[in-house]
Amino acid sequence: MKKKLVFATNNAHKLEEVTAILGSKIELLCLKDIGCEVDIPETADTLEGNAMLKAAYIRNNYGLNCFADDTGLEVEALNGEPGVYSARYAGEDHCSEDNMRKLLYNLEGVTNRKAQFRTVISLILDGETHLFEGIVKGEITHEKQGNSGFGYDPIFRPDGYEQTFAELGNEIKNQISHRALAVSKLCDFLKNIQ
Ligand code: IMP
Repeated sequence: MKKKLVFATNNAHKLEEVTAILGSKIELLCLKDIGCEVDIPETADTLEGNAMLKAAYIRNNYGLNCFADDTGLEVEALNGEPGVYSARYAGEDHCSEDNMRKLLYNLEGVTNRKAQFRTVISLILDGETHLFEGIVKGEITHEKQGNSGFGYDPIFRPDGYEQTFAELGNEIKNQISHRALAVSKLCDFLKNIQ
């Protein structure tokens, strides 16, 4: 019988990405599939903490093996900000445009533009917790460039590329991204224990 594993998300794009890497040996379920309609609180002050909170919520309430992810953009000159607060950098009800505007404003006149995207995945399998991390280093541009992707993609240029994530497009981004790196570590781990 296939091993069942819940991915604590309803993001169709993330689900598709992980299903494609994992192959057919594992039956991947999303929150909707298990009838979970709660917006699981992300109240920790680290990416690791939030990923673990979300995975533990599913384990404790549904008794299922599961994993959850959390991602942040960490800017060196801002001591790692916005980090765990990336989604709500400009405030709870603000959008990506507002977040990018605030970040560019805070970096005005700052020459050190170094930043990294970091994804943490927490897996709870048979009662044990495992963490996986994916990092992409790069820099924050001076203005928005490109239209694809989401979040901070138009102002993040990964090292080794002339273009931002938003200019590179999803196909290239999904091969080199922080999330892809963390997911592929998770998948390697899962393949080895089957
Ligand atoms: P989440 O943990 O995947 O929901 O990511 C939290 C926030 O980080 C998002 O709301 C975005 O603002 C930002 N973020 C995460 N991943 C990316 C990415 O791949 N590109 C740009 N921004 C991202």
